[in-house]
Amino acid sequence: METTGQRLSVIGIGYLGLTHAVCMAEIGHDVLATDIDSEKVAKASAGEAFFYEPGLEPLLRKHLESGRLRFTSAIADAAEFAHVHFLCVGTPQGTDGRADLSYVRSALDSLAGYLSSGCLIVGKSTVPPGTARPLAERVRALAPAGDEVELAWSPEFLREGFAVADSLRPDRLVFGVSSERAVVRLREVFAPQLDNGVPGLFMDLETAELVKISANAFLAVKISYINAMAEVCEAVGADVGKLAQALGYDERIGSRFLGPGLGFGGGCLPKDLRSFRAAARELGVGSVADLLSTVDEINLGRRTRVIELARKSAGGSLAGKRVAVLGVAFKPGTDDVRDSPSLDVCGRMSEEGAIVTVHDPVAMPNAARANPVLRCAASVREAAEGADVVLHLTEWADYRAIDPAALGAVVSRRVLIDARCVLDAPSWREAGWDVTVLGQS
Ligand code: NAD
Repeated sequence: METTGQRLSVIGIGYLGLTHAVCMAEIGHDVLATDIDSEKVAKASAGEAFFYEPGLEPLLRKHLESGRLRFTSAIADAAEFAHVHFLCVGTPQGTDGRADLSYVRSALDSLAGYLSSGCLIVGKSTVPPGTARPLAERVRALAPAGDEVELAWSPEFLREGFAVADSLRPDRLVFGVSSERAVVRLREVFAPQLDNGVPGLFMDLETAELVKISANAFLAVKISYINAMAEVCEAVGADVGKLAQALGYDERIGSRFLGPGLGFGGGCLPKDLRSFRAAARELGVGSVADLLSTVDEINLGRRTRVIELARKSAGGSLAGKRVAVLGVAFKPGTDDVRDSPSLDVCGRMSEEGAIVTVHDPVAMPNAARANPVLRCAASVREAAEGADVVLHLTEWADYRAIDPAALGAVVSRRVLIDARCVLDAPSWREAGWDVTVLGQS
């Protein structure tokens, strides 16, 4: 099977699209990527990955040099260049929790007008079930090539922090299709991966859309399950860390995504959960909508619980208290602060009058942009200077290497709240810290 030389376009070069464009070049294709944000286009063209993603920038530079990857602000160029167009624009949370599909529609509309010969558009953005089919009609009506233009949907499962590895070696490829012609074209594009044993699953459009959104919902359920158990542990005086460890050894349960703590955030899980909830309600599947509401509630409840613990440790009020926060990215391995649990907690503590100083190995610029009120520290030590309480909110590995005795020398009070439940509490206690671990109090 032919494995190289396909001419592809990528529309939208955010976290998903830039990674996808780079990785499609890496597996041998010629890629032209476009975005309405000309600053992103300029940076990417200059070899700068404008967000933190391990391994992405070297590959970007490699393929700018190889000539297999180019960027443009003109979608007309992309339409003319490629036979397969990947749609990677955002689907943020809209009103009532529904996915805002306006970027998807607008990108498709702009592309369609230039499609004068047959091609395949492949949606990769996360959308609720029932989105693609009417979009396919819309594109065919708008494109000069009419019925020669097809739409498939291939949701993306990459994890920020592992995006390159996940894109190059996905654990499965899911394709929602409505014709054999699309199957053939997709098999050609993904031949380097399919021939290497990556499972390729072809299905109808609705099932493909549902695979992504239900996978994210499952992960959210699992995280909220252990966090609900954390609440029970707090009530009964049990230890959720030990509970999770013991549950995780059961192969039917497994230990991944069973870490208790501050819960999930980021640009995907929360909004996908709410979008799925809204879709389930519209479809009349109230039980799923109710389940997902509970999952969301449990997740957000952990943030409130951490603030309560901080307030309590500060003697009942955070007003005027110095709070040092370790970690603001929504999870380690990324600089993404979209719906970051830490940033939410920081913002709410600031509103209560706390003086919040944050540290993060890579997410400081994004945190400062998202909440200019927060003070930013260049090191953990600087963040902790004079602190009344230290909060561990994003579990970067660096924080596990902190010397509690050395840090104890700079704080005002040795009070630690470990909201990610991974620090070595005994060694902190030995160094004179009063340690609270979420789910163990
Ligand atoms: P993002 O906001 O980082 O990127 C979206 C990009 O699309 C932006 O650069 C924006 O300027 C661009 N865009 C918007 N309208 C456009 C148009 N008309 N033409 C060209 N470009 C346009 O979002 P993201 O995190 O990359 O997510 C994109 C989609 O991928 C979402 O549906 C998301 O749920 C899904 N997804 C994301 C991830 C992830 O880890 N970030 C993983 C899997 C799936």
